Amino acid sequence: MTDLSPRSRSVLDRLRALQSDDLPTHGGRTLAYVYDSGLAEADEVGRRASAAFAATNGLDPTAFPSMLQMENELVGFAADLLGAPAGAVGSITSGGTESVLLAVQAARDARPEVTRPRMVVPSTIHAAFLKAAHYFGVEAVVVEVGDNFRAVPEAMAAAVDAAPDDTVLVAVSAPSYAHGVVDPVPPIAAHAAERGIRCHVDACIGGWVLPYAARLGRQVPPWTFAVEGVTSISVDLHKYGYTPKGASILLHRSPAHRRPQYFAHADWPGYTMLNSTLQSTKSGAPLAAAWAVVRTIGDEGYLELTRQVLDGVDALVEGIAAIDGLSLLARPDSTLVTFTTDASCDVFSISDEMSAAGWFVQPQMRFGDTPANIHLSLSAATAPLVPEFLTALEKAVDAARSAGPIVVDEGVAAVIAALDPATLGDEDFDGLLAAAGLISDGPAGDGLALPQRMGEVNAMLDLAAPRLREALLIAFLDRLQRPVRRTT
Ligand SMILES: *Cc1c(COP(=O)(O)O)cnc(C)c1O
Repeated sequence: MTDLSPRSRSVLDRLRALQSDDLPTHGGRTLAYVYDSGLAEADEVGRRASAAFAATNGLDPTAFPSMLQMENELVGFAADLLGAPAGAVGSITSGGTESVLLAVQAARDARPEVTRPRMVVPSTIHAAFLKAAHYFGVEAVVVEVGDNFRAVPEAMAAAVDAAPDDTVLVAVSAPSYAHGVVDPVPPIAAHAAERGIRCHVDACIGGWVLPYAARLGRQVPPWTFAVEGVTSISVDLHKYGYTPKGASILLHRSPAHRRPQYFAHADWPGYTMLNSTLQSTKSGAPLAAAWAVVRTIGDEGYLELTRQVLDGVDALVEGIAAIDGLSLLARPDSTLVTFTTDASCDVFSISDEMSAAGWFVQPQMRFGDTPANIHLSLSAATAPLVPEFLTALEKAVDAARSAGPIVVDEGVAAVIAALDPATLGDEDFDGLLAAAGLISDGPAGDGLALPQRMGEVNAMLDLAAPRLREALLIAFLDRLQRPVRRTT
């Protein structure tokens, strides 16, 4: 690096300075968004592979056969892991959302005769399915889960049977993001199969953990292709494959199941477009990095990482249960732990206290009868830090207790309750965002004024009905995303 010009060095210095405001991606103290194996060498291999393939274009596998080879090897690895039959196929995508979008799109387009396609999902399904419904004009029929947060087979079946001919897909989770539990896949998949309906298992976050958990002798409910009727599975490499961001896999039981996912267009003057996924020009970096990391860690490595992380989960579950005032929402089936508090304190204060102590935990807002809670995605790198985490958590709970639960001003709460987002204009949103402390009144472009403590803001957002919360956050993002111009 010594041969870089002063200008290039200062560019890189600026990048490092920008990055220093981000959450740490490594070190095990960020318990959402990032997944850290703790294996420095695997990370280094991933970085080098990523750099070597950043300019490679996955658009055309005949021009860049390396991409095809790496994809086929990774999909094969996943197919073996997930009990896929001999004919199974798959695609590498940019992430869980793209895998889910394609599963829904393929299910819709496999049934072109259906004019009003619908899909049946439990209320705990990942928001990516609702995004897919929105993008692709598929009605999402959302079914309440049981009090253990798992899909209820009878209720799912009834929702399917309300319009079986229009139902193009049934989807379930292994496990769900919000509560970390695996849905009862066999009865749901069997019911769909009897009616010739596709069944997708969203294992984006658990697909690289649960098979190893089973091999370690843990109780894992059946959910893979070994279950009759499961037609596709999504599994993210950039979560528990511990690979750099931008890689997921969508597996189909057969080439016929994948076929409608493909898009070709020859009827224009340019090259004949032929795409297996949403992207066309597609960086080789995420695929090469994923391939290299999976090869470096290997089957035995993942088994060991899973052993470590699940031991960490056990310790975490036990530790949280022992802290006065905290309770788990569910006993985790995998690596995701969710807990809430009694009335003596507030999860949003706890989350602020943890941030101040150098730990990132993810607040989840109230939903139905479930109170606001805290989500933890445990990484292998966090496992050895669990005792330290629990000490910090206990202190955070003490501090939150002393402060007492956050009370939103009654007048503000009344305003939030009365607001209909559909009737609000841009100026109303400016006022609301400023009142919530989410933007400053300065000129557009320097609007990011996030308070150090998010507790009050979160408590207010928690009171807002989902539609209002969506509208407020969209307005917020819009204010953040303003270009930095050299002119004007
Ligand atoms: C993360 C996740 C997704 C979406 O994946 P992205 O990689 O964030 O696009 C979908 N389903 C589940 C269960 C997830 O945990």
